[in-house]
Amino acid sequence: MIAEILCVGTELLMGQVLNTNAQYLSRRLSALGIAQYHQQVVGDNEQRLEDAYRLALSRADVVITSGGLGPTVDDITKRVAAKVAGKELVLRAEAEAMVRERFRQYHREMRPNNLSQAMFTADTTVLLNPYGTAPAAIVPMGEGKFVVHLPGPPCELEPLFAEQVEPWLRERGGRVFLSRYIRIFGMGEAEADYRLQKLEQGSNPTLSPYCSTGEVMFRATAAADTEEEALAMLTPLVEKVRDALGDVIYAIDPDDSGSLARCAVEALKAKGWTVATCESLTGGLIADTLVGVPGASAVVKGGLVTYMSEAKTLLAGVPAELIDTCNVVSAEVAEAMARGTRERLGVDIAVSATGLAGPGGGTPERPVGTVYLGLSTREKTWHIPLRLTGDRMRIRTLAVKHALDAVRRAAR
Ligand code: ATP
Repeated sequence: MIAEILCVGTELLMGQVLNTNAQYLSRRLSALGIAQYHQQVVGDNEQRLEDAYRLALSRADVVITSGGLGPTVDDITKRVAAKVAGKELVLRAEAEAMVRERFRQYHREMRPNNLSQAMFTADTTVLLNPYGTAPAAIVPMGEGKFVVHLPGPPCELEPLFAEQVEPWLRERGGRVFLSRYIRIFGMGEAEADYRLQKLEQGSNPTLSPYCSTGEVMFRATAAADTEEEALAMLTPLVEKVRDALGDVIYAIDPDDSGSLARCAVEALKAKGWTVATCESLTGGLIADTLVGVPGASAVVKGGLVTYMSEAKTLLAGVPAELIDTCNVVSAEVAEAMARGTRERLGVDIAVSATGLAGPGGGTPERPVGTVYLGLSTREKTWHIPLRLTGDRMRIRTLAVKHALDAVRRAAR
């Protein structure tokens, strides 16, 4: 099966909205083993949208649209698809009931044009939308091809796709695709790729790398007739990757929702530890990333943002003389920040970060990107020196990831 994503909306062409729907759908499609050779973005213009549909249907089996399902005149996605299929839109009772119910729930007055959201061709499978007012739809386009309409807001598109479109695609695909997402931290892409070169050449199961700031993820996917068969193909491949990469692997998950923060929170929970942060260059990002994990309240006690030296002394109890003698960006100060925070907040482990995110302020001795992490548990206090590269945001992001990895390792 070949799919093509067609995102509709002038705001996407103007750069006002980042096309995260295309990214989300692409990731899900590739995890399902469904090929994609092209994507399109088109503004709210009837003729250009019609051309886009015809082109997409000439080269794909399923065209997935995002956006333009609202009640306004520029919401043309369904109307133009119906025109291409040579069919009329009619009011569909189940969709009308859903739209009316949603307005009642939201205490909003319904206008006659809102009923356009309940209009579909007679042969359309309507997908009721529990997350918004626009129903989604699977529209037969003839010759075994389909258009799937999804609403633009990601908070509606994502669950609708996962819950209602994915099962339909799986059924039509007729094969089971099983994946494992292998996440690594602390080894560069080139080194990981070099070690896995041979394994990446297979066609089923496949092994493909994905990179983000400081992290590499490998997705292993097997296609088979049954889940058992797919698992039997996948397990030896995952084992070989584990042997080749060792302990830089921090998670092997069935989906790609994992993160260093989630692993750190899970490790802390398993150990029954609480954590606190003391942050200078990361300005609260370590705490924020931890708190982003559902269930973090079981382990995260709190965090200090100690940006100026004075705050390090006032909040974390770092002696002012230590800062004067050793420099605020130093192993000694990082350790003192972690120790002071652990003692003051009464946690099992504290993590601190002090460093130079740039762009200014670097010296030959301490160039931009010099970062010290401090860690303190009841048994010991230690530090991790880092030399990071990149712009201010990248240095701060990498410092957060190193801190989360250090906490995860300490709590193992
Ligand atoms: P609604 O019923 O809310 O009008 P809709 O299906 O008509 O939904 P649009 O009006 O096209 O959708 O888009 C609504 C909002 O959804 C946009 O303002 C934008 O914030 C978001 N959105 C639309 N398309 C995308 C996309 N491709 N990626 C990310 N966000 C998007």
